[in-house]
Amino acid sequence: MEPECDRLILEGINKNYADMDEYPVTTELQNRCVNIIARLFNAPVGAGEKAVGVGTVGSSEAIMLAGLAFKRRWQHRRRAAGKPCDRPNIVTGANVQVCWEKFARYFEVELKEVKLREGRYVMDPDEAVAMVDENTICVAAILGSTLTGEFEDVKRLNDLLAARNRRTGWGTPIHVDAASGGFIAPFLYPELEWDFRLPLVKSINVSGHKYGLVYAGVGWVIWRSKEDLPEDLIFHINYLGADQPTFTLNFSKGSSQIIAQYYQFLRLGFEGYRNVMENCMESARILREGLERTGRFTIISKERAVPLVAFTPKGGEDASLAFRLSSELRRFGWIVPAYTMPADLEHMEVLRVVVREDFGRPLAERFLAHVRMALDELDDEARGGRVPRVRVTIELGPAARGSGEEASARVVKREPVVAVQRSVSLAGGKTKGVC
Ligand SMILES: *Cc1c(COP(=O)(O)O)cnc(C)c1O
Repeated sequence: MEPECDRLILEGINKNYADMDEYPVTTELQNRCVNIIARLFNAPVGAGEKAVGVGTVGSSEAIMLAGLAFKRRWQHRRRAAGKPCDRPNIVTGANVQVCWEKFARYFEVELKEVKLREGRYVMDPDEAVAMVDENTICVAAILGSTLTGEFEDVKRLNDLLAARNRRTGWGTPIHVDAASGGFIAPFLYPELEWDFRLPLVKSINVSGHKYGLVYAGVGWVIWRSKEDLPEDLIFHINYLGADQPTFTLNFSKGSSQIIAQYYQFLRLGFEGYRNVMENCMESARILREGLERTGRFTIISKERAVPLVAFTPKGGEDASLAFRLSSELRRFGWIVPAYTMPADLEHMEVLRVVVREDFGRPLAERFLAHVRMALDELDDEARGGRVPRVRVTIELGPAARGSGEEASARVVKREPVVAVQRSVSLAGGKTKGVC
């Protein structure tokens, strides 16, 4: 972030967010952020009305809270109907982020995962709805799959689930995990319906520290309305002063992240965020095209998605190329994760490059040059040994200058190259060329 924001963060570092009476400003800023994000996600809040939501440490905590709210609401409904409520489940795609598995294990909810298949790397809404039963507390859709950045089709899920709910009377709701996509879609694809415009979407989480453009340690969960957050999960505490309603897993935490998020909202505004996201998309496009030009990879990420490129070695390539390329790129200072896809695509190896705001065209081109070099080196190795690299410094003779004659050159120095430049330096200080 900008130096001004770094200073604000430092000034806020000694303020405990839990001391709401001592630092009422932070609570106020959190509420303002909640109101801004809820409106960005088209929550049905009238002018002057307060939105329902809370700041968290990240999307993981946000998802724990949203999941608990769904579980509790479902339990209330089941008890009221005299039915058992001891076997709750969530339906998701097998591409969920690990925090959903964490939620499931910690809070004793079964995860029912829709498997992936060749060419389909996100949850299939038809299959998801078919897996819903009377114990399903929610269907979790992902706006920006962690593995490929792809947006799941929340609108189709909403429509299919609404039809199913009409038949069953279960009223199964939807949660959208918009950890990455929540700060992409509203700026780049405002017409895409994935949020509270869809009636079954009851809660949404987003990470402030991903495309919310704040340092690590802030996330958000927003509920559609008060009815979607059971009152018995909210704690009223008064031992630090006035009555404070809270719904978080932790009590004390720093204030700086909330202050920083509010700073970014004010500093950039809607247009600023849109410009940043457009720049990220442009870098992702350069990367995608450059990787395609090598002829060695199939791009599996989509263009209308999170600004990242996920790619897999083309069929027929040596199976472990993704992992070898990943470790080769480390020599150039790039950490590009290679991983296998979840069930039923475990045989598929993927590399993924996520574009951050400060990753512009020069870095993208440098990265592509390094990928080509790394591929060459791996090919040399496959052919039976690396060709040693030598750096030669030459001096051009005077005849070369403008005479059209062959340049005469003298070798000044010849040195073996053992290591390539390892560090990739990013721009410091002001990075917001967009304002
Ligand atoms: C990153 C991510 C999370 C976890 O978010 P944190 O903010 O790191 O806790 C959850 N879901 C998805 C889809 C993510 O990309």
